[in-house]
Amino acid sequence: METREAIAIIKDRINLVDLIGRNVKLRKSGGNEFVGLCPFHSERSPSFYVIPDKAFWTCFGCHESGDAFDWLQKHEGQTFTEALEELAGMAGVELPKRGERVDTGQDQRIERMRAILAETQAFFEAMLVSEDDAMCYLQGRGLKSGFIHKAGLGMAPPT
Ligand code: ZN
Repeated sequence: METREAIAIIKDRINLVDLIGRNVKLRKSGGNEFVGLCPFHSERSPSFYVIPDKAFWTCFGCHESGDAFDWLQKHEGQTFTEALEELAGMAGVELPKRGERVDTGQDQRIERMRAILAETQAFFEAMLVSEDDAMCYLQGRGLKSGFIHKAGLGMAPPT
């Protein structure tokens, strides 16, 4: 099995509520969401959510978020490889030999960063396109709208 494949199976099998529940007291909050006090910032009313259906956790207070791999890295200070080994053990997934997967693990991280960047870029581009004044300004500076789109220019709103 390839590492990429193993990661997908692990994410699917790991019960995020059990994993995070080892360290954070979680209680059910509507639908299939769980809430608790965020371990990444100090708070009195809970804003830390675990959404097992999406294999995702997030905090509305300090905006830490991620999946099971991120949890072990951010909360327990593990490396990606350590997190992968622990989670594979929990999920009963056999991993490729160490030497064969180091690069794939790196690829995975790079891919995720690219995805985040692409999403961020799309957000700022959408902001620009929806702002007539900003588009007029750029066109006034001689930039054609085809170029603006091709270059992926964006705008950060004041907020
Ligand atoms: Zn937080």
